[in-house]
Amino acid sequence: MQALRVVAEFFLTVCVGLSFGSFVTLASYRLPLGEDIVVKPSRCPKCDTKLGFYDLWPVLTWLVTLGRCRYCKAAVPMRYPLTELATGIMFGVLYFKYGITFQSLLLALLWVVLMIMIVVDLEHYIIPDQLHYVLLPLGLGYNASIGTPWDDVLNGFMLGAGIGLTLHFGYRYLRGKEGLGFGDVKFMALAGIWLGLKPIVPFLFFAGIFGVATGLLWRALKKGPIFPFGPSLAVALYFCITFPEVSNLFWNIGQFVK
Ligand SMILES: [Zn+2]
Repeated sequence: MQALRVVAEFFLTVCVGLSFGSFVTLASYRLPLGEDIVVKPSRCPKCDTKLGFYDLWPVLTWLVTLGRCRYCKAAVPMRYPLTELATGIMFGVLYFKYGITFQSLLLALLWVVLMIMIVVDLEHYIIPDQLHYVLLPLGLGYNASIGTPWDDVLNGFMLGAGIGLTLHFGYRYLRGKEGLGFGDVKFMALAGIWLGLKPIVPFLFFAGIFGVATGLLWRALKKGPIFPFGPSLAVALYFCITFPEVSNLFWNIGQFVK
């Protein structure tokens, strides 16, 4: 009976995640255009047909229609079902790690915002300010709910902002052009609020590694010298927050090496 309940709850959580994934694809399409993301009904961006009940099933619609709009046959990019799938999977991971709790709810919302940020930054090379406005109260609420001391939150914020600003202005001073965008700097300060002082160090470490990987990938794909850093920051933050043991391991290895 217990196993059955776990399977049912897991299945339900992943389905909720897939639906939020649909919201992510919608929001990441509309936010950079300055469009409303809540009340406006979904339409095909090509033929403008209002989408109905059968057109809005996450992943499934894309599979059944073989990735085409039912009305005008325009191709629906594969990133739509992939985004939905990634959101669903991460909700599932949260269920196994934290169960159905207030903490996993806040972490699920964090992942929704981060997914929007990843998709928008990959496509437009910007991090919309609206996302920061959501991440700030969410991060403060998260720390209040798990009882993080407030001086730790403040120290994390100052370290994140300090390193971000140093990289931003340092690069500009040394190379005469922008390296780290201001959206990234704001996000690093916010990551400090979410993480607190100690875990922000492994966060920056992992973000750096992911960033180098993205840079190499961008070069291999011949997408130009500038690459988005937001996705690396987002993935590093999600993993450092969801798996605090990773950042503990980081410090333990540091102790060991010393
Ligand atoms: Zn269409």
